[in-house]
Amino acid sequence: MRILVVEDDDRVAAALAERLRRHGAIVIRVARGVDAIAHFAPGSAQLPTDIVLLDLGLPDLDGLAVCRAIRRRSNVPIIAVTARTEERDRIAGLRIGADDYVVKPYSTAELLARIEAVLRRSHSALSAPVTPADSPTAGPHQRLALAPLDINLTSREVRRDNITIPLTRKEFGVLVELVLASGEIVTREQILDKVWGATLFGSTRTLDVHVATLRAKLGDPPLIGTLRGVGYRLLVDARSNGT
Ligand code: CA
Repeated sequence: MRILVVEDDDRVAAALAERLRRHGAIVIRVARGVDAIAHFAPGSAQLPTDIVLLDLGLPDLDGLAVCRAIRRRSNVPIIAVTARTEERDRIAGLRIGADDYVVKPYSTAELLARIEAVLRRSHSALSAPVTPADSPTAGPHQRLALAPLDINLTSREVRRDNITIPLTRKEFGVLVELVLASGEIVTREQILDKVWGATLFGSTRTLDVHVATLRAKLGDPPLIGTLRGVGYRLLVDARSNGT
């Protein structure tokens, strides 16, 4: 596992890298936001990164901006590391594409658990079972199609009317649950359980935030309907999908 550690405090970064290496990780350290972004530049010679630990308090750029810039270039899982404890900062981080958060000071055990959970979710989204006979078509290449959406579960590419829509891992996970339900209601609890598992931190407001960003990214006319306090459904008529 290759981990990119973005941390300007040399002492903190060295200790963290040491602990991660002890658990078998290959750690690449950068201290500035620009270097973190450059790591994901198109044509970069860097080997693929499995996960990014991103300190939000960086000397050169705002950590949230760095997160957003990485997310524009890559679907790599990002765990934001922050001393900020305000909920609005956590929500801001999630809104722009972080997969999870740890708040300083955190234990190594907590961090490792979050890394494992984030990686597990990103892998399980790839192997989601997709075969009920009367549900969206699922071919041998792990593709889900439910007009106007077309989802490649392997590459995690989502298209609406043939236009690619970049999604975070969580948004992707939520969308897959909704598509699998073929327009039926999926309850909040089902989504939280499937996409966040037992590691959900904070309030279920996190789910609202992700659904809001997902809905915005999917464009108009809106594709996600809300049954207030109960759940969400995809606004499609599966029976007219011709499958
Ligand atoms: Ca810092």
